Amino acid sequence: MPSIFTEILSGRAPASFVYRDAMVAAFLDIAPLSEGHCLVVPIEESARLANLSPDTVKHLAAVAQEVGGALQRSDPTITGLNWLMCDGADAGQEVPHVHLHVIPRRQGDGLRFGGRSRKAARAELDAWAERIAERLSERP
Ligand code: 5GP
Repeated sequence: MPSIFTEILSGRAPASFVYRDAMVAAFLDIAPLSEGHCLVVPIEESARLANLSPDTVKHLAAVAQEVGGALQRSDPTITGLNWLMCDGADAGQEVPHVHLHVIPRRQGDGLRFGGRSRKAARAELDAWAERIAERLSERP
């Protein structure tokens, strides 16, 4: 089912991209739960994880691992990460296109899930994307 992520992946809607290859893309969440919050998304349009090939799921996880590493290299205050996937509307999925949240955590941040977060300014998201992408290319 087409969604806002179809628009983003096709370039018809803006996003602050960190990474993209033939199978997977990563960009900043428009309403971050914490600074640097990224979404890792398969290019293939699928609402549910079960409909993706195992190779795509493996690659999605590998890219999320790399993005998490780049986040921590780009900001030393990031001392932990949460991965979150809402698979299906009953699991809280709002955008019907598979996505893995990579959410930076900082000591004592007190972050709780489930609330609404504010939309970030595009310039702020672009700055994070640039910073993360730079560190991604430095991966060990
Ligand atoms: P879900 O609840 O489906 O797991 O999360 C959907 C996520 O997509 C939310 O964190 C929300 O902020 C994000 N999102 C919704 N619309 C857009 C958009 O237009 N651009 C970006 N970058 N993120 C979006």
